[in-house]
Amino acid sequence: MNRIPIFVLLAITTLHCNLLEDEKDTATPKAIYIIVDGISTDVLQSTPTPNIDAISAMGGFNTAMTGGIADGYSESPTASAIGYNNVLTGTWANKHNVYTNGINAPNYHYYSLFRLIHEQSPELTTALFSSWTDNRTKLIGEGLEKAGGVEIDIIRDGYDLNVEEFPQDSGWVQKVDTRVATEAAEVILTEGPDFSWVYLWYTDDTGHVYGEDERHRASITYADSLVGLIYDAVLQRQEQHNEDWFVAVTTDHGRSLPNGFGHGGQSEREREVWFAVQATNLNTHFDSAHLKHVDLYPSVVYQLGLDMPDTQRSELDGIPFIGPVLTSHLSTRESEQENVQLIEWEYYGMRDNVMGTLSYSISDEFSRGGKDEYVFIAEINLSNEQYEWNVPDSLALIGFEFQDKNWIKLLLETPENSSNIWLGLTP
Ligand SMILES: [Zn+2]
Repeated sequence: MNRIPIFVLLAITTLHCNLLEDEKDTATPKAIYIIVDGISTDVLQSTPTPNIDAISAMGGFNTAMTGGIADGYSESPTASAIGYNNVLTGTWANKHNVYTNGINAPNYHYYSLFRLIHEQSPELTTALFSSWTDNRTKLIGEGLEKAGGVEIDIIRDGYDLNVEEFPQDSGWVQKVDTRVATEAAEVILTEGPDFSWVYLWYTDDTGHVYGEDERHRASITYADSLVGLIYDAVLQRQEQHNEDWFVAVTTDHGRSLPNGFGHGGQSEREREVWFAVQATNLNTHFDSAHLKHVDLYPSVVYQLGLDMPDTQRSELDGIPFIGPVLTSHLSTRESEQENVQLIEWEYYGMRDNVMGTLSYSISDEFSRGGKDEYVFIAEINLSNEQYEWNVPDSLALIGFEFQDKNWIKLLLETPENSSNIWLGLTP
């Protein structure tokens, strides 16, 4: 091979990167996520899924956590509607308040991505392709006043309720999925909505009926082919238009051992989900061990350049896995000294002396549609990754009640992202 001087190589590389950057700068951002229901990571990885693999090859693949903080205030069952809403609202169940598939009383103050787009960027087109109509009528709360009267531009669902066209005999859920995915591919190809959610159901159905046997695996490969239909449409859009597509495929929960018939519990395998993502800007967080289901929301916000009010951003339980990010994994533990809480986080930045701010609130008015006042704790050097907080005595006696305990909200703000957790104080 001929040797090319390093400065020439550097110049060529820089030029190439600039061109890519420029192209990306002018490209219209688009985002789509697909939930394929109830597939354990180990089963996914030992089953042929060429299309999900192809998407991962254009970005990355990693496992992630669902079900809230284990043994913590945000823990929830690892069930379907809860998983969908973790993704849809970027918060855990202690906030969005969906604890069962019955979806009795979602707290719509934690905006779904559809509502955020509807309010902040109504010029963007949104689309929903779903095998389960409750996703629209209950989780998103389309048209409901208490959900902000949110409208969705393109809707393809309702087939699960249409027993004439889809009689509920064996395999009917697969037929519904096929219809939903076919329509999704068609709409994406012809209309290229700015934001889409596709939900496919059949893989969970086979898990419940057969366990994780060959029939369940076949349903996964089939679902993968439906993902392929949709992804082909995305690839064609990219060929024909100047568009930058963020594509994420995920599942809503894992399955229980030994045979995967069930889910809902707190075993690691049920709490483990995964992300297969096409993106050019995956960050350190995506490859970390701290990736969470709720991280998809702020990633979509970043991709679409959505404006998000600070009050809402500071309630998000996720942090973006694309674009710039500085901290993750905020946690607290009691120090050996009395009344001292050790606040810890992980710092992803490269430089020392990047500063952030810690503050707390004793109220949870946000959950009722109000606003919380935050009290400044300290300015902190993020690279220290911990801060010893002398908790004022009085705080242990106030705070807001949740499941028979008093809580305060802690907020860590950095120049790139914010994180929040709840801290329970014992009087
Ligand atoms: Zn499910």
